[in-house]
Amino acid sequence: MILSNAGGQVLVAGSANVDYVVRAPHIPTPGETVLGGDLTIVPGGKGANQAVAAARSSGAATVMLAALGNDAAAETLERSLAGAGVLLHAVRSNSPTGAALITVSETGENAITVAPGANMALAPTDLPDLAGIAWLVLQLETPIDTVTAFAQAARTAGVKVLLNTAPARALPAELLAAVDVLVANEEELACVAGEDGSIADRLATIGTSIAIVTLGARGSCALANGVFHLQPAFGVRAIDTTAAGDTFCGALAGALGQGQLLPEAMRFASAAAALATTRAGAQSSIPVRDEVERLIA
Ligand code: ADP
Repeated sequence: MILSNAGGQVLVAGSANVDYVVRAPHIPTPGETVLGGDLTIVPGGKGANQAVAAARSSGAATVMLAALGNDAAAETLERSLAGAGVLLHAVRSNSPTGAALITVSETGENAITVAPGANMALAPTDLPDLAGIAWLVLQLETPIDTVTAFAQAARTAGVKVLLNTAPARALPAELLAAVDVLVANEEELACVAGEDGSIADRLATIGTSIAIVTLGARGSCALANGVFHLQPAFGVRAIDTTAAGDTFCGALAGALGQGQLLPEAMRFASAAAALATTRAGAQSSIPVRDEVERLIA
């Protein structure tokens, strides 16, 4: 499990999906069949996207724990993760690898159906030895009991926990109690902390040492041990915001794992996420470290 003797490595435990994307004149209404363009098959899933972001954007030594099927989709994910330098720790399931069926309309709207498949097989007992791990990164596309058990095991082992509360849902108190850094987008913040009051007030109600909200092109804000911090977005020409949040989370964990302080790590994550919006796709849009450093300089 140990990738480098320098320590500081990141373990991302969560979902891995293959995205089956088709562009169509419009999103079909119930009962309708629409003829679309060619099928594009690309690696995705919030967990796998975040692992690629941690490894590729920050250069942090990164391990991914995911449940995969025994199918061609699993191989697509294995190739993408390996290409980004992520060490994959795969749990094999008899269910098919997770899949997202995505229709994108001419106006850029999308409709997505996820078949979680193998992701639902990730169990509390699947967490590997945490020796050498500095940060555990979690999201909510795998069973909530597993996410909670992983966070609690990390807390016990002295490993810091970053939870990206995506997709939006209410969180069990025992999960929140084991989280060090929570990252939500606006919709997820409304789900975790309601819609009333200022952003700072709502971040304060979450109760984690650090709570961050990402605000798309408006940047991101953090409440870190009572201190409010604002990170503006980098000005770029955004063409596809898919995986912006995942890139932010992965790059943030990588930067924190490498010892950056929060404001510096948020600036780094914002630059990585901004670059990801300038390219189409999920994992394929995530920048390498040199590009991020050039944007920051
Ligand atoms: P999600 O993809 O989870 O909804 P956001 O849309 O809030 O997350 O985006 C995450 C981060 O990505 C933002 O905080 C910002 O740093 C960056 N980002 C998103 N959209 C843009 C944009 N149009 N221009 C520059 N940066 C962006």
